[in-house]
Amino acid sequence: MYDLILRGARVVDPLNGLDAVADVAMENGKIAEVAPTIAGSGREEIDFTGLVVQPGIIDSHVHLGSIWGSPFGPKMLAMAGVTTCLDMAGPLADVLDNVPQYGAGINMAILQYASPPFTFKTSSPSESEMVELIETSLAEGALGVKLLGGHYPLEPKVSSLLVKTALERRAYVAWHAGTTENGSNINGMREAVEMAAGRPLHLAHINAYCRGAVKPEMEECAEAEDLLIANPNILCEAYVSPKNGTRLTCGPDGKILSKVTGNCLRRFGFSEDREGVRAALLAQKAFVVYDAGGYSDLMTGPEALARWEAAGTDVGGSFNVNPPLPRIELARAVRPDGAFVVDAISTDGGCIPRNVILSQGLSLVKLDVLTLPQFVQKTSLNPARMLRLKTKGHFSVGADADITVYDFATQTPVASFVAGRRVLWKGEVVGKSASVICTERGRAAIEARGMKAVTVDPGEQVERLKAV
Ligand SMILES: [Zn+2]
Repeated sequence: MYDLILRGARVVDPLNGLDAVADVAMENGKIAEVAPTIAGSGREEIDFTGLVVQPGIIDSHVHLGSIWGSPFGPKMLAMAGVTTCLDMAGPLADVLDNVPQYGAGINMAILQYASPPFTFKTSSPSESEMVELIETSLAEGALGVKLLGGHYPLEPKVSSLLVKTALERRAYVAWHAGTTENGSNINGMREAVEMAAGRPLHLAHINAYCRGAVKPEMEECAEAEDLLIANPNILCEAYVSPKNGTRLTCGPDGKILSKVTGNCLRRFGFSEDREGVRAALLAQKAFVVYDAGGYSDLMTGPEALARWEAAGTDVGGSFNVNPPLPRIELARAVRPDGAFVVDAISTDGGCIPRNVILSQGLSLVKLDVLTLPQFVQKTSLNPARMLRLKTKGHFSVGADADITVYDFATQTPVASFVAGRRVLWKGEVVGKSASVICTERGRAAIEARGMKAVTVDPGEQVERLKAV
């Protein structure tokens, strides 16, 4: 007798070529059987007739560090139907320290930020400083490191050495493109692709380089696709929200610290300083991330201005800077060999309030930009492969029983399971703690914290699957 059988939903599992009404059985946290009708009864059964059941949603670009908004990231992701996520900046200790209180039963991989002014003292750290940061992060349970070049750039030769140093140590490396020479735009993207020199680099949110900062946005989009097709070693995602995420912090001289915030202010015609942020908030072009009582939300206008001032300008923020057409094009584009150009659909959400994979991503299916199996491929199967998680992203017998259940009509999550256990149930997050996806070198540190370690090898090659 199986532990749990989910009955009657439309089950979409692109790896196994399944898109049909079926039953899904789980046993000991694994998928035990998927069939049109499973005979007998489970110890427990749930009827999901009329809903979609897919392998658990994996958001391959989120933020869990409370400096980016709040400690509520895991819960906000779980509420949105996400079962696994890749955190794209840490800080590692902050994210892990918050798991006992704020973990929501999801799986998380964490990349430690490798950028001044945080983990490096200057914008030209030495190779030994880099090695120390990388080794320490892996030993403490990070999957790898993230370069925040777009926000806090390093010199090109330093960025290049950092990527090389981290990849040689089989760390997972992600880069928000940008150096002291090139910004967070298509030129920065081209530079980052060149610096990866054929190694497996995760280039963050491709849509961020196709906002029309250098050339018309669709020309940038075409160039981004050409770069990705010519450099299949680059793994990547693009997000579907119009909103970005940044910080609105100003330095002692009144100038804005983040280059991305500077770009946004300039784009909307404001100065890149304290006065510019003030005007942008009052003009409702800039948004402030705030604690809405157990989750984060965005606000703008005079109240947002008051919060920003009360916090001494040091708050997370957002701007509506992602034009729609590049987001659609990057979701649908396919390589000459049949694989998607952009591997995954992400959100850059987490504690930044835009966990919109279902609420906005499913619109791509309704617009015929993607089929539902393709949507599942880009929100679960492909990101599982990026993270080298062989037992996630599909419903083969023995795979992890990570499942997201949703209502296609309303684009809202209904339930989720991680390793067969309920995480989202009846509109509430009932999951606790977290499983941490890390390298073998971080297992002891994660287990010492009382969490489950799921180990992978980011140095492994990723073989791309054709779009279904
Ligand atoms: Zn991000």
